[in-house]
Amino acid sequence: MNENDRYKILFESVEIGPVTAKNRFYQVPHCNGGGYRDPSAVAEMRRIKAEGGWGVVFTEQVELHHSSEITPYIELRLWEDDDIPMITKMAEGIHKHDALAGIELAYPGINGPNLYTREVPMAPTPLPIRSYTNDPVSARVMTKRDIRDLRRWHRDACLRTKTADYDLICLYGAHGFGVIQHFLSPLTNQRSDEYGGSLKNRSRLMSELISECRDAVGDRCAIAVRLSLDEQTDGLGFTNTELRELVAMHADLPDLWDFAHGSWEDCSSSSRFSEESSQTDLVAGIRQLTSKPVVGVGRFTSPDTMVKQIKDGVLDFIGCARPSIADPFLPNKIKQDKVDEIRECIGCNICITGDMTMSLSRCTQNPTFMEEWRRGWHPEIFANKGGSDSVLIVGSGPAGLEAARVLGERGYSVVIAEAKQEIGGRVQRERSLPGLSAWGRVADYRKYQIERMANVDIYLDSLLDADQVLSYGFNHVAVATGAHWRRDGVARYHVKPLPIESNARVYTPDDIMEDNIPSGKVVVYDDDHYYMGGVLSELLCSYAGHVTLVTPSANVSDWTVNTLEQYTIHSRLASLGVKIVLNRAVSEIFSDGIDTVCRYTGDKEHDQCDAVVLVTAQRSEDKLWQELRSRESEWADAGIQSIQVIGDANAPAPIAWATFAGHRYARELDMDKSITDMPFRRDQLLN
Ligand code: ADP
Ligand code: SF4
Repeated sequence: MNENDRYKILFESVEIGPVTAKNRFYQVPHCNGGGYRDPSAVAEMRRIKAEGGWGVVFTEQVELHHSSEITPYIELRLWEDDDIPMITKMAEGIHKHDALAGIELAYPGINGPNLYTREVPMAPTPLPIRSYTNDPVSARVMTKRDIRDLRRWHRDACLRTKTADYDLICLYGAHGFGVIQHFLSPLTNQRSDEYGGSLKNRSRLMSELISECRDAVGDRCAIAVRLSLDEQTDGLGFTNTELRELVAMHADLPDLWDFAHGSWEDCSSSSRFSEESSQTDLVAGIRQLTSKPVVGVGRFTSPDTMVKQIKDGVLDFIGCARPSIADPFLPNKIKQDKVDEIRECIGCNICITGDMTMSLSRCTQNPTFMEEWRRGWHPEIFANKGGSDSVLIVGSGPAGLEAARVLGERGYSVVIAEAKQEIGGRVQRERSLPGLSAWGRVADYRKYQIERMANVDIYLDSLLDADQVLSYGFNHVAVATGAHWRRDGVARYHVKPLPIESNARVYTPDDIMEDNIPSGKVVVYDDDHYYMGGVLSELLCSYAGHVTLVTPSANVSDWTVNTLEQYTIHSRLASLGVKIVLNRAVSEIFSDGIDTVCRYTGDKEHDQCDAVVLVTAQRSEDKLWQELRSRESEWADAGIQSIQVIGDANAPAPIAWATFAGHRYARELDMDKSITDMPFRRDQLLN
């Protein structure tokens, strides 16, 4: 325990109905893009969190009956007895480390289009399905018989959950994803029977479900409910005021109240738009309405903030999803007085893109996330180094820094050579853009780790060429020299350079990050579609007279739909007065303006402007790599066993791809794997 016991309160045990959590660290349910397709990967990821000290570890959303599911998104399912073993495996792993295993039971109702099961969805009031994909499907109204069936299905799911040996059952009624919320909200519940109208009536289903689940399994399992703090629908939906009335009305009904926020976008707001503990105002005071413990979230990474939440009487449990992904060992690091070693979440929401793209989540800060079972990567344990000794890493961006950190842990003698006077590469530049300061943690965390390693040295101001690399005699070289933004307009719409008049004022994101900033009437042309176009448009509002964002996409920053930021980015730009031009590509750039073309009709327009910022593709900074490759015959004489290119220098992508590339390079060095070997394990789902 810490010398001054500053964080002791976080390690107090707390009773939740019939079970007791060993501490206040509560990993709230979170998706991971793996679900029923990758149950072994999910189970090991949860076990690792329990090993890292979380007192409560939850599954993601578990669909409790086949009549409601959210295909194409991949969560877990508990539809019949045959599904029990998959769920059991997770509880077993969590129990190995004295953590409580929690399951989040969900009946998606009006959120579930049932594309897989082909059942007709049901909801309190018949309305079109409310899903991310705007499926052309409607829900039929639930009759009283349907409600009775729904109650029975919950009871059955609880019995299966008990068989699977879970300690906590949480009924999902938050984020617009669970039927309890659909009944609570006057938006989705327009019934006139005893399940609609007054708050008492709208909460009847919740009350019945909690009581009946307790009757079924309450001797052994705690029953919790997860609700949104406010639906954020301009007072039309379930408001924070009504939530407080609800808690007062049913104060001691569940064994624990779990509060999320609004939609998932509201709840998992990125660091670009919300600070740590941003939900405190909405949750403060609710704990005083009940004798039962309260959990809330807020991207908590600071132990002092956590302590304050408990001491101020706001929360009993510190709920975390993203902070537990970025550092599964966060509780243990606090307990062992290693607060400086916490790998803080940067709030980029890349983890969420794994669910949104139905792939497998990854984390910018923690490349081992969802690779714990697939590749056997433990976040804190590394194999000792292999037969060789020394590695030169050229470039100190996220790829180079992560490679150095892990190689250092493995015991190699590592040198990082960085051309600039500070480390961090793209992260160091991008952290000064609006809203992206937390991204700097990618460099800060690694810098701190590396500086404490006697076997890793950093040389700044060291722009290396091939002759130098070949003269140093390192066993291995990793070229992590990054990428730069193209100046010729090539990206997705144009795969060949745009016609650009010689005296046209054209800028790239690199220019702007180097403080070469355009003025006057500026057009930002975004054919990249992630964050950079929107971020620069926002930044330029402070400098330029007028900013227009032109994109061939139908949406501003359209990939950010996967980071749950797209709506907020558009709103922010619109409120700043940025003129937004969708579905048009810049087709030619002149000294006095641009031609744009409609991607549907091909009609052209000329617009006057003073400067154009091209947020198009990035090109690998691979000159060094190409030269070294062309001199491969000299490697052996130079004592070099391998040279590899990693990260953006290999192929540009978001930061998470670079940290993954650096991590993988370092894990696999000297491991003697053939390129034809499958690099990871998969669940083979055939019975
Ligand atoms: P990644 O995202 O792949 O890590 P970055 O662009 O963030 O790539 O970082 C690359 C880093 O490499 C930059 O800090 C850059 O200054 C540095 N760099 C590029 N070329 C050289 C070189 N020849 N010698 C040393 N450092 C280099
Ligand atoms: Fe945090 Fe980003 Fe990792 Fe998600 S991907 S846990 S937001 S650092």
